[in-house]
Order: sequence, then C-alpha cells, then structure tokens
Amino acid sequence: MKKRILVTGGAGFLGSHLCEKLLESGHDVICVDNLFTGRKENIAHLLNNPYFEFMRHDITFPLFVEVDQIYNLACPASPTHYQFDPVQTTKTSVHGAINMLGLAKRTKARILQASTSEVYGDPEIHPQPETYWGKVNPVGVRSCYDEGKRCAETLFSDYHRQHNVDIRIARIFNTYGPRMDPGDGRVVSNFIVQALQNKKITIYGDGSQTRSFCYVDDLIEGLIRLMNSDGYKGPINLGNCGEFTMRELAEKVVFLTESSSELAFLPLPLDDPRQRRPDITKARRELSWEPSINLNKGLKYTVEYFMKFFTNIDVESYSEKRKAG
Ligand code: NAD
Ligand code: UDP
Repeated sequence: MKKRILVTGGAGFLGSHLCEKLLESGHDVICVDNLFTGRKENIAHLLNNPYFEFMRHDITFPLFVEVDQIYNLACPASPTHYQFDPVQTTKTSVHGAINMLGLAKRTKARILQASTSEVYGDPEIHPQPETYWGKVNPVGVRSCYDEGKRCAETLFSDYHRQHNVDIRIARIFNTYGPRMDPGDGRVVSNFIVQALQNKKITIYGDGSQTRSFCYVDDLIEGLIRLMNSDGYKGPINLGNCGEFTMRELAEKVVFLTESSSELAFLPLPLDDPRQRRPDITKARRELSWEPSINLNKGLKYTVEYFMKFFTNIDVESYSEKRKAG
C-alpha cells in the first residue's frame, strides 16, 4: 500500500539511497534536510518525481507534516563533521529526536531511528551483540555523537513505553558506497580519493584498528525490512561481519585503483575505537537479513562512482567551499 514517508537527512549519503528505494517501491516521500553535510546533487535526479518533495529544514525545530512512517537519519555521521559543531550534533540527536517522536506521536506514524555502532564506544566485547551496553567516554571529542545517539535511543524507548509510539531502532555499523561525500573524512572515501589521485594514503595510528564495512544497498534493505517488520522493534545491529584492519583496507584500495600511492602513518584521533564487528544473529533471525555484497565487490562499485565524479577534485578546497555554504 502506498505510504507517505518522511526521511530526515534525506539528502545525505544513506538518506538519498533510502528516498530512491522508497520511491521505486511506489511510496510518497518527503525528504527533510538542512544540507549541513547533505548535497542537493544527491537528490537532484529525484526532484522531477511528483511523489518526491524536498524541504530544507533543521530538525532541531518542530516540523508539522502528515505522514505514515518516519525514518530519522538526520545527523552528520563522519567524525570530522560531527566534531565541527559538537553542540549542534547533540542538539540534532536529542532535540531532533524529541521533535520527530512528537510528530510520530501526533500522526501515529511508525518511526525508525538511525542509531549507530558508536553506542558501543570502544568495545570490550567482540563482536558486539545488542545486549552489550558499551564503553563510551561521556566527555570526549566523540561524545557529542555517541552520547547524542545513546540519548536518542533512550528517548525512543521512553516514547514507546510512556506514549506507545511505534518505534524501531537500527544500530548501523560503518557503511560505504556511492554518494559518500569525498571531503567528509571517512576512511573509505578518503582512501579512494587519495588512491585515485596517487596521493599518500593517510592511515591513522598503526592501522591495526578494525572496522566492518557494509555496502549501502545491503544496509538500505535492512532498514526497510526493520521498518516493515511487525515483530522486533530493536535495537538491532545492521552491518557486515567481514572485519578488516585499516591497513588491509588501504592495501585493497591501492590494489583496486592500480594506484602508485604510498601509505603514510598519522597520529590516531582521540578515542578512536580499536575494533568493531557486528553480531547480526538478531537481524538474521528477526528480519531474515544479511549482507550480500562483500568488501571487494562494494569497493569496486564505490571506486567506479568516485572515478566518474571526483578523480580530479581538490578535496581540501572542496571541503572549504562546502563549509562556506
Ligand atoms: P550524512 O552526513 O551523509 O547524512 C546526514 C544528513 O543529515 C545530511 O544530509 C545532513 O545535511 C542532514 N542533517 C544533519 N543535521 C541535520 C539537522 N539538524 N536537520 C536536518 N538535517 C540534518 O551521513 P550518513 O552516512 O548518510 O548517515 C545517515 C544517518 O545514519 C546518520 O544519522 C548517522 O548517524 C547514521 N549512521 C551512518 C553510518 C554510516 O556508516 N554511514 C553508521 C552509523 C550510523
Ligand atoms: N581512518 C584512517 N585514515 C583516514 C580516515 C580514517 O586511518 O583517512 C581510520 C580512523 O582512525 C578509524 C577508521 O579509519 O580508525 C574509521 O574511520 P571513520 O571516520 O570512517 O569511521 P569511524 O571511526 O566513525 O568508525
């Protein structure tokens, strides 16, 4: 059945793929975004679709629309961007969640929160199951994001318990793919752009820290399944179980791009988690979901995208221009 669906953060990397998929499935989509890290280019191809609507709006302010479902994705996701204005990051997660939950309460819409593996912090349990409460620094440079997302999960759970709002919580692990912002500082986009330009690959620390990378199409499928499942509300881990060190990732990218880049080792950012891999037993059982695109294949698609659009860009001046508006 055709639904009216709100996607906050819909002009961002994940949000734009989600809007596209929902439109393909025949739904009416309202995309709300303040364009802090999102780009109009990500949704330009959707603007002529009569069932797609873009609203420039900051979710820290109330929003009045009539909808059946809400995907709450608005929040900068890369450490560089969420640390740029940490107070606004916390406001987006906390005030934004309150506003969107209020909207869900009034309209009786089902609402899904894009939470994160960062709620586990620098985890002592590996891989991370949903039952693990995490090890998070409350006063560090990553706290605006980690604690903001943790508080949003609390708000979602309390709106459910107190007001019977129909919630879903997805804990998303590192996701990559086409439409990542080349200047946002995340590891996959950084390495690909550096390799394509034969510049030094910037490995932070000794590169032994691990991450598990999920291709965007797999992740979007997981989000939609969770939203439409009538059983499990979450929190539920969504991610790929393949775990790689950042050094391994760098070597893969250099190989795939046939680059002459060398590896450069730079200081490790504060509170950088040492390891991360999802336990997706629950997603397999409750959503019959698991990723189907491995890192080699996903990186190939992502490299193709970056080759098409960004081989020649100067990432630093591109980022500066974006910050300037
Ligand atoms: P992104 O930065 O590309 O997208 C976030 C979008 O939210 C951007 O379009 C931005 O302009 C918008 N936004 C930010 N603050 C806003 C505000 N106050 N009001 C309205 N719009 C606002 O990041 P992404 O990778 O697409 O991530 C989307 C969501 O998924 C985020 O909530 C993020 O925390 C979560 N997530 C992503 C990953 C990942 O690896 N990509 C992992 C875990 C969680
Ligand atoms: N990283 C790196 N070089 C870069 C960017 C990131 O070595 O140019 C490392 C970073 O220190 C972290 C990992 O890659 O250990 C993933 O970083 P990202 O910012 O993509 O995501 P997050 O730390 O939030 O998982």
